[in-house]
Amino acid sequence: MKNQITLTFPDNSTRTYPTGTTLLEVAESIGTRLAKDAVAAQINGKLTDLTEAIDIDADINIITGDSTEGHEVLLHSTAHLMAQAVKELFPNARVTIGPAIENRFYYDFDVENPFTDEDLVTIEEKMKELAQNDYPVKRKVFSKDEAIDLFKSMDENYKVEIIQEISPEEVLSAYQQDSFIDLCRGPHVPSTGRIKYFKILNSSGAYWRGDENNKMLQRIYGTVFNTKKELKEYLHMLEEAKKRDHRKLGKELELFAFDDEIGPGLPLWLPKGTIIIEELEKLAKETERKAGYQRVRTPHLTKGNLYEKSGHLKHYKESMYPAMDVDGIDYYVKPMNCPHHHKIYASVPRSYRDLPLRLAEYGTCYRYEKSGQLFGLMRVRSMQMNDAHIYCTKEQFKEEFLSVCQMYLTYFKIFGIDKYEMELCLHSSEGLGKKYVNEPELWIQTEQDVRKALDEGEINYTEKSGEAAFYGPKIDVQVWSTVGRKFTLATNQVDFAIPSLFGLNYTNERGEEATPLCIHRAPLGTHERFIGFLIEHYSADFPLWLAPVQVAILTVSEKVENYAKSVQSKLQNVDIRVDLDDRPDKIGAKIRLAELSKINVMLIIGEREAKENTVSVRRRFEGDIGSMNVDNLSSALVEEINQRRNTYRKEG
Ligand SMILES: [Zn+2]
Ligand SMILES: [Zn+2]
Repeated sequence: MKNQITLTFPDNSTRTYPTGTTLLEVAESIGTRLAKDAVAAQINGKLTDLTEAIDIDADINIITGDSTEGHEVLLHSTAHLMAQAVKELFPNARVTIGPAIENRFYYDFDVENPFTDEDLVTIEEKMKELAQNDYPVKRKVFSKDEAIDLFKSMDENYKVEIIQEISPEEVLSAYQQDSFIDLCRGPHVPSTGRIKYFKILNSSGAYWRGDENNKMLQRIYGTVFNTKKELKEYLHMLEEAKKRDHRKLGKELELFAFDDEIGPGLPLWLPKGTIIIEELEKLAKETERKAGYQRVRTPHLTKGNLYEKSGHLKHYKESMYPAMDVDGIDYYVKPMNCPHHHKIYASVPRSYRDLPLRLAEYGTCYRYEKSGQLFGLMRVRSMQMNDAHIYCTKEQFKEEFLSVCQMYLTYFKIFGIDKYEMELCLHSSEGLGKKYVNEPELWIQTEQDVRKALDEGEINYTEKSGEAAFYGPKIDVQVWSTVGRKFTLATNQVDFAIPSLFGLNYTNERGEEATPLCIHRAPLGTHERFIGFLIEHYSADFPLWLAPVQVAILTVSEKVENYAKSVQSKLQNVDIRVDLDDRPDKIGAKIRLAELSKINVMLIIGEREAKENTVSVRRRFEGDIGSMNVDNLSSALVEEINQRRNTYRKEG
């Protein structure tokens, strides 16, 4: 072994160290700030503990908690800290799993009683104490049998169950801080003192492995950040999101409902929610018609054979509802619309002149989600998808793909979505033939085309290797609501495998048979998820074109009833959605009620207005804007609606 090793840093500078120097010592040699904030490091790209000693020349990247990888290490380390605190306070608690999720972590415990709010405060206090003690966090490795013995001796039966499922060849690791030890792949912070800005958020019941037939565990959520400021901002965002919780607002404003007798995850759309759905469909249909799409409709039930062919029964069966026997044949409710659109493509002979063929449908699909996974409109079992499939030649692909991306951007503008991210998910060469169809050249070519399309369209994107769909590269689209919460809305996928599986073809210019490419796209995702997002995004203060009730007419006295009715019918005649409140209530009470219902435009009518053929206009967030002639008002509103103007204001 050499006495000296040479390490290369991200800025390409190099330094030499004695063999066996730990990464933490390396971090310290570079600078105190870096040493203080470091949570892990990468050796030749592989994430590892700072306590690791290095004995080879390598590329080194010291990771701090403000990077994506570093934040995950912090989150995970804090989950351990929380489990340690729970075990000290509740020695009978059994630990299960504690993963990091987007900006948060959770840990599931088997305890006799659910945690109370006071318990959570005590746990957080204990965590602070354990963090201040700055226990070193040590990695230990075990064989499968050793690990089973260890966790059996601690009575941690859930851990034993997890370990038993791991292949015997795998080396298992655990991390120990003080007397607390937890099974984990790591890496982790080198000592508990590096965990500073954390907060316990809430707790809830969660079934072991998300299965309602298993025991109910208690899940505690928490968060941690690299700085106090980031923690504060995140907690503020959560507060805002809570006020805008789509489940709460959806109920208050009578947009949708769930009913036990219908079943979990199966939303009922009330009249007001249905208006929003219809406005969204109108927008999508208009946009798609202009972009050359044709609309189709397909049944909800389909023979099992089709799903054998499409591969759904092989790869997707767990998310499908069980078969029903009809005349001795298995039928399924459809989990996706793709196979049906492929069949429409195949229903007539196609020539190159038919391409690109763009088939669109607001298709309703049914997917089985475990009941523990269901969440308001975000995770449901029935969904209506803004679906379309574009069949095109290889030459047409780039342009088609780009115009789909442009369509996403058009929608973002309409909905005032300022922050979004497109992530290009690519194949990995190791996965060819297993995770990915074995067409190495086609993969490289298509990925190159997608990249070119994105570059030419000046669309911002990041790349991620090994995340592609089975049949081609895809783009995951994430958007941020106005309060800064991230939502995964939609994907845009290229498919060069399924068309040949379905025997789809066309006659090319030379009279030969060729296979088309297929693009799967759903820019507005599903109505369920998109409306859930919009409720939070707009705080249910929908822009006028989307608002279920656009105008409320409020009468000051009974004397103006007839005039109020004439104003109502005038507005209704130009398709404005108007409610008339002519109850004998005080005008102040009527205004308050309309405000609670988040009505965008209020028209107040008293005797003066009736006499002058006007209305007093009051707009949400703007207050009184004076009296207006009814015809002028009506045409101004129609214009605002037709332009789908985004009247929403963040500070509401
Ligand atoms: Zn861990
Ligand atoms: Zn599809």
